Amino acid sequence: MSPPDNANSPLAAPVSDVWGVGEERAKLLARLNINTVEDLLLHKPRRYEERRKFLPIREMKLKEAATVRGTIVAAGVKRFRKGARAMFECVFDDGTAHLHCRWWQAQPWMEDWYAVGREFLIFGKPDSLKPRNMDHPETELVEPGEDEFIHVNRIVPIHPLTDGLTARVVRILVWRALEKFENEFEEPKVGQTGRLPWLTQSVQNPLSARASALAGQAGRLPYFPSRANAVHMIHFPNEMIDVEIARQRLALDEFVELQFQIQSRRKKFEAVAKALPCGGDNRLMKPFLAELGFKLTAAQTSVLRDIRADMGGQPSLKTFGSASAHPMRRLLQGDVGSGKTAVAACAALMTLESGFNVALMAPTEILAEQHFRNFQKWFGPLGVKVEMQTGSKKTFNIQHSTSNVERATRSGQSTTNNQLSTLFIGTHALFTAGFELPKLGLVIIDEQHKFGVAQRETLVRKGNYPHLLVMTATPIPRTLGLTLYGDLDVSVIDELPGGRGAIKTFVRPADKLPKVWDFIREKLSAGRQAYVVYPRVEENADGLKAVTKEFEHLKKLLAPFKVGLLHGRLKSAEKEAVMADFRANRHQVLLATSLIEVGVDVPNATVMLIENAEAFGLAQLHQLRGRIGRGAHESYCILISDAKTPDSIGRLKILAETNDGFKIAEADLRLRGPGELLGQEQSGLPNLRFGDLAEDLDLIRQARELVKKSVEGGRDLLPV
Ligand code: ADP
Ligand code: MG
Repeated sequence: MSPPDNANSPLAAPVSDVWGVGEERAKLLARLNINTVEDLLLHKPRRYEERRKFLPIREMKLKEAATVRGTIVAAGVKRFRKGARAMFECVFDDGTAHLHCRWWQAQPWMEDWYAVGREFLIFGKPDSLKPRNMDHPETELVEPGEDEFIHVNRIVPIHPLTDGLTARVVRILVWRALEKFENEFEEPKVGQTGRLPWLTQSVQNPLSARASALAGQAGRLPYFPSRANAVHMIHFPNEMIDVEIARQRLALDEFVELQFQIQSRRKKFEAVAKALPCGGDNRLMKPFLAELGFKLTAAQTSVLRDIRADMGGQPSLKTFGSASAHPMRRLLQGDVGSGKTAVAACAALMTLESGFNVALMAPTEILAEQHFRNFQKWFGPLGVKVEMQTGSKKTFNIQHSTSNVERATRSGQSTTNNQLSTLFIGTHALFTAGFELPKLGLVIIDEQHKFGVAQRETLVRKGNYPHLLVMTATPIPRTLGLTLYGDLDVSVIDELPGGRGAIKTFVRPADKLPKVWDFIREKLSAGRQAYVVYPRVEENADGLKAVTKEFEHLKKLLAPFKVGLLHGRLKSAEKEAVMADFRANRHQVLLATSLIEVGVDVPNATVMLIENAEAFGLAQLHQLRGRIGRGAHESYCILISDAKTPDSIGRLKILAETNDGFKIAEADLRLRGPGELLGQEQSGLPNLRFGDLAEDLDLIRQARELVKKSVEGGRDLLPV
């Protein structure tokens, strides 16, 4: 993300403008992505050291980090036997006790640097107290001089470093840069001219409740620093509470910038894009719902009401100036199994009734196939054409000379309301370059989190601003939702269809597997089916189990029941055949990788066994678990893991404790960060220096409101 300060600000000057940065240091700084003065000043410290009072060496506690100050009284290289690695050791004395510091790989420069008589600050945890030993501590040479007040007698920052740049050097450079440039940090502007109103009395202190609470505990009033002040305090705080206050202030600036981008994108879109009238007339919907075999849940119905309101834009209303209805841009969130497909089908029917075509995009071929089969079954009897294109299969050809149709689309009119329209289903192959679907009224993207945000953007451009419905079963924590999908309206299906058996989840160590297999055999004998999931396709050095290896073993173990094998390296036709066998219960067990994580729907499958469960993310495990519990029978998810660390065991326990996708996603976000939660495919995650997507919901909300006020208050702020 670009910082709010603009390009001709003095802050954009090269970092070599800071006294003491020559060619050599500029190169080292570039390794830390520091190229400008501003980069240097926004280089967030990785931690802080309390150096107003040092601990006497004698008072250090075992395995407790502390900073001490001592003079070297002995130093040297030790080699335990000939040819062995050399160790460097030196002994510090502060008048209260000795501290032995050891580096297990002696470097040539150490003997010169750690010379007897030199004074150092030493930070680390003692590994023993008799004698006092510390391995690989961080040290900083105490050089008496004018700038000494920067490094001691205060809380000092330790910045992220790189080889050849010490903490002391970076600290000096930051200090000098602050002296010269600190006041160049202005309050952020929104757009070209708009200032945010947050320093006026009408706006409450926008820092989070957490910051206020911290300030209260420290006996301080919460306050709201200027941007310049915050930049100073993030490096040189008076008290530790100042760090969090400064961080929140700078994070808020980042979120404001982000929200401004999101909201102006939306505004721009609303200004140029006109809605096609796709409200439909129920003539297909009625028979569809009658034949569906179940009643929509209240949640499904209410979401459909949102969708119909979005899509039913009346062209005649557009004559009333700027209040034109714009195409739908809606995110549909619903936990696994909540019935998003049926909602998508209804939205598709409204569009088809209105004489427009629909495109439905799925992230995997298996899922596209499944949709193709379902929709053919549902829509075939209604006379709707259902076509499919994936990387390996294609049931139709688009003719590019459909000039009548194109003209009709451009003018926002359907050709005739009686003509039957088409539903196109596919993977992203559906939208490969040069491919133009004619008369597109609605684009539905299933399992949106598997696609990048950028892809979503290019997609809707393909048509003449069709309506857009994106669906996701990865419950997105609010922080991420507001950031990634801030330009979409959101509907949530917060209810599962009734008549489903409960899902029980167990975490078990690998030595319980024999019992688990007995249990599974019992369920298979009762007529149910099971998924078995391993993390790898083929074995490799990481020691995780692989489907190809376990396949032979399982076939024997589970005979006479039949086992199918599914993974990403199979050809499409093979995958399809395997899925068909499982669906038809010719195979009772499906051995698979996490490929089956999205969308697959086989209600008779009631057991999900996942080995090496610690190798998966929580959200991913929840998705996998969502494959079961789809029928009336009780279902069982068994997570096998020999993970020993309390962390990984705690993680898996969360799954056993809750079936609430939102809770799980939030835990996953905290534990593994947004990149991991959303998957590698997800682009569009902002690069934040100070903001924290797992923690800063308050600030993101604040930023959103502030920008909304500015954007609504003055249209001219938005470069349309
Ligand atoms: P997801 O939201 O995970 O995509 P699906 O659309 O695959 O869920 O639906 C899961 C299962 O629930 C399907 O078998 C579907 O037919 C069924 N289903 C959907 N809506 C209802 C409902 N209102 N009542 C009963 N079953 C439903
Ligand atoms: Mg689905």
